[in-house]
Order: sequence, then C-alpha cells, then structure tokens
Amino acid sequence: MIHEIFPVGPLQCNCSIIGDEASREAMVIDPGDDIDHVLALIRKHNLQVKQIVITHAHIDHVGGAMKLRAATGAPILLNQNDYALLKMLDVQAAWIGVPHPGDVQIDQSVTTGEIISAGSIAATVLHTPGHTEGSICLHFPKEKKLIAGDTLFAGSIGRTDLTGGDVRKILRSLHDVVLALPDDTVVVPGHGELTTIGEERETNPFLVKR
Ligand SMILES: [Zn+2]
Repeated sequence: MIHEIFPVGPLQCNCSIIGDEASREAMVIDPGDDIDHVLALIRKHNLQVKQIVITHAHIDHVGGAMKLRAATGAPILLNQNDYALLKMLDVQAAWIGVPHPGDVQIDQSVTTGEIISAGSIAATVLHTPGHTEGSICLHFPKEKKLIAGDTLFAGSIGRTDLTGGDVRKILRSLHDVVLALPDDTVVVPGHGELTTIGEERETNPFLVKR
C-alpha cells in the first residue's frame, strides 16, 4: 500500500494519500489545503483518485476538497451529522483568519460499518462523535492503521469546546470504539506525530483508567 502523510495548510492538518500499488486506485483523506502538492504526489505515484474522504467538517480538513474534486472527478464523502458545520465554513474561516474556500458539496454520507475502497484497499468507517457530531475515523484492518481525524492525538484528544463538540461523547467514542482496536494499530492523527493504540491506551492522560 502506498501511504503518503503530509501536513497541509496553516494549521498543519495531516492529509493522507492511500493508494493500491496494483490497480493504482487511491483515496485522499482530509485535503484541507495545498492541493497542488496533493496533485503532484498523485502524479508522482501515477494514481487515480477514487474517493475524497473528510474525517470532519473543520476548514483545515475540508478546505481543499472542492479543488481536488474538480481536478480528479472523485466524490467527496462526509458523515451527515457534520453537514451543519460544513455550512459554517465562512464563519470557520473568520475564526482562524484564512480566506473562505467556497462552499463544499458532499456527494455521499458515510457512517459506521460502511466500507470505503480503492482497488484492493478497504477502510471501515467508524462514526466517532465528540470533536464534532459527524467525526469519523477510518480503520484499515489488513494494514493495521487508523486515520483518526481530530478524535485522537499522540498524548491528547480532540478539543470539544467548538461548535458540535461534546466531551462525554468523545470519551465514549474513544473508549467504546477506538480503544476496541488492537494495540498494534498505527494511529495517524489529524495533526502531529503518529502513535499506536497500545501506546495511547497505556500513556494518554485522557484515556488511562485509574
Ligand atoms: Zn477539527
């Protein structure tokens, strides 16, 4: 599996390009910004983008989605519980002082149990509300990877003080859904360094049960 992970935009959102070496089909997760760089990597690996997946409707994760869709023709996938937040992109742009990227159209809502695929690569959708109502994680069971969006970080968890945030919900999502995954699962958070489920289960101060 091809997996490029690179920070995009002023808030350094981790964007992922995941590609199937045999079919050259790919999915792009959280193309928040820097779409020219995303497209250069797509060309470098000779990939065809089949899915654009958004872990949640914060501007730093979704801001470049329409530009990527226009360039690739791939559909944009987001959980429907974040549609209201998506309508506030202009407000979100004002919060962090960046230009409004324009309205984003969602082609399909995705939720728990659904499979998103690109060639032979299959990701299971996990709806993990708390950072936002529509936050999702993508689990790649064969590759033992989790794209966690802003639900889980190395040593921390997603903030819950923004619109749609709920601390009880994020803790329930983390304990019931995310920590149910095997310890050797590599976690790619929405920002910052990679970690593993085992590492976070043992050391994350928000998750350690005492
Ligand atoms: Zn966020």
